[in-house]
Amino acid sequence: MEELFLDEIRDLYDAEKQLLEALPELARSVSSEELRNVLEEHGEQTETQVKRLERIFAVLGEKATGRKCFAMAGLIREANEIAGASGDTAVRDAGLIAAAQKVEHYEISGYGSARAHAEILGDDRAARLLSETLFEEKEADERLTELADSLVNEEAAWSSNHAFNGSNHALNSSANGRPKTRSAGGSDLREH
Ligand code: FE
Ligand code: ZN
Ligand code: FE
Ligand code: FE
Repeated sequence: MEELFLDEIRDLYDAEKQLLEALPELARSVSSEELRNVLEEHGEQTETQVKRLERIFAVLGEKATGRKCFAMAGLIREANEIAGASGDTAVRDAGLIAAAQKVEHYEISGYGSARAHAEILGDDRAARLLSETLFEEKEADERLTELADSLVNEEAAWSSNHAFNGSNHALNSSANGRPKTRSAGGSDLREH
């Protein structure tokens, strides 16, 4: 169990460092100012989260080293693909919110498990540090949900007749060129 826990901390450490590197560029690629604020603020929180993990390494008497988190690498790659896609900016923002939420959900599950394992090991200090980060990840996820529900998806639904050309994400709307009337639920995005 000690080894599993250390492995989890190393995975999270690498995941957070990958995010630290990726977030500034992702934030620059969004068009909604609110979404950019959320991403930038979460970038600052991520620096704190990295430091918390370093404190856990210190508590464990281990060197702070990461172990490549392939999941985060994949999630960031998908986010970058959406960021680099051409087409309607509001639709791209909606895609970026979805990508960012996948990142938060991954972190929430990682921190949730690591905290449970810290508790099993009786490491209260590590459990408390992991709880603090877990709370921030959930908060970030909620802010993204609120954004998705309001501004961005609304705009995207308005302009759902515009094409969106992701490199391998099939987000193109029906290409009949006729403007669609906006449906109440804003569900035009998924309608084909
Ligand atoms: Fe994080
Ligand atoms: Zn985070
Ligand atoms: Fe991982
Ligand atoms: Fe996060």
